[in-house]
Amino acid sequence: MLQHGFVSFGNPEGVPEDEVIARRDLRRMDISARSGCCVDFPFSGSCLGGSMMDVRQLRTLFKDFNVEYWGGRLPAYAIHVVAEVTSRGEWGRCLKKRRLIEILRGLPDEDAASTLLHEMAHAAVRHFGHGKPWKREMIRLRSAGAPLTYTDLNIRLDSRSGEPITRRQFRASVQDVLIDASAITLSGAIRHFIQTEGGPPTIAGFLRKYPWARTVFNDEKRENAEKQKRRIEFEAKYCM
Ligand SMILES: [Zn+2]
Repeated sequence: MLQHGFVSFGNPEGVPEDEVIARRDLRRMDISARSGCCVDFPFSGSCLGGSMMDVRQLRTLFKDFNVEYWGGRLPAYAIHVVAEVTSRGEWGRCLKKRRLIEILRGLPDEDAASTLLHEMAHAAVRHFGHGKPWKREMIRLRSAGAPLTYTDLNIRLDSRSGEPITRRQFRASVQDVLIDASAITLSGAIRHFIQTEGGPPTIAGFLRKYPWARTVFNDEKRENAEKQKRRIEFEAKYCM
């Protein structure tokens, strides 16, 4: 049993100790109130002992889901099972340019399948992140009876008809986009928000109406860089 502060994990079968340490640290570093890619599901010690689909099974599942829910129209993706997605603690991610989906190792079968569907929905829409195009896709999957779990099962299109954009909404969108594009600029992040969520049609107009967007963006970008740095330091110390 490894212990660190208030978090402790037993070592599930077959998981190397350094990986357990990495998971523990991941949990300690970042289970924030963020609503972005999969981090709504902080993983618990009990997840680690569940049955686990291997990469071969997930690749088969990708093909089956593609046929069943997309009529075989999604392009082929490589599927990797990884010990850590990013230091933010996601359960999966979809790297569209590389045609690669990563799924966190050690998830129970139903969560691994739901995460795979979540990432396939990213692959199916043009935009990054969890904006309306992705949400529509998730709602469509739910209606089709796809096996979704947790918050992936309860995606809603929030109606933002004329309602002002909140800092929280903008922050969540910036966090989303930083996962795929850590070098994004303020303009890029605003463009992404407008494309996926709506709001004033131009970047200048957006900043006139929501001048705090600059501060929110800079804060998130700084925090993201610090997390990257902590992760590199952690890996240098424990994972060499
Ligand atoms: Zn996502």
